[in-house]
Amino acid sequence: MHYGGWVDMGDFSARGRTKDELYALFKKCPLGKSDGGCWPCWNGQIHICARSLCGTLQGLIPSKKGVDFVDIFDETANKRDIMMNILNSDYITACDYCSGDFGTTDPAKRRKPAEQITEG
Ligand code: SF4
Repeated sequence: MHYGGWVDMGDFSARGRTKDELYALFKKCPLGKSDGGCWPCWNGQIHICARSLCGTLQGLIPSKKGVDFVDIFDETANKRDIMMNILNSDYITACDYCSGDFGTTDPAKRRKPAEQITEG
């Protein structure tokens, strides 16, 4: 199983985390800083993680172009620099709109693929 199983990313509400909390999440998240991100691309945007991409495209996360994601149609942007800046940043906007559990070390938060969850 990828990273030991699925995790619940939670809803898209803002958690109101501090900068230190956001930094700690982004640093340990394999979709963020710890494994270099996964860099999905859709509808002209490249984000470091799918949570950021999906939430932004649906208008649920107020990510900033050139700061949180690359606009591949912006011919004036230095896309390589933007991607490096994202990877080297302390966190991205989306980290406050996410459970942050993808980097968890708690096995109780992981679910086997295809295993039904009946709680909640
Ligand atoms: S938004 Fe969530 S999944 Fe994406 S880098 Fe931040 S903590 Fe990880």
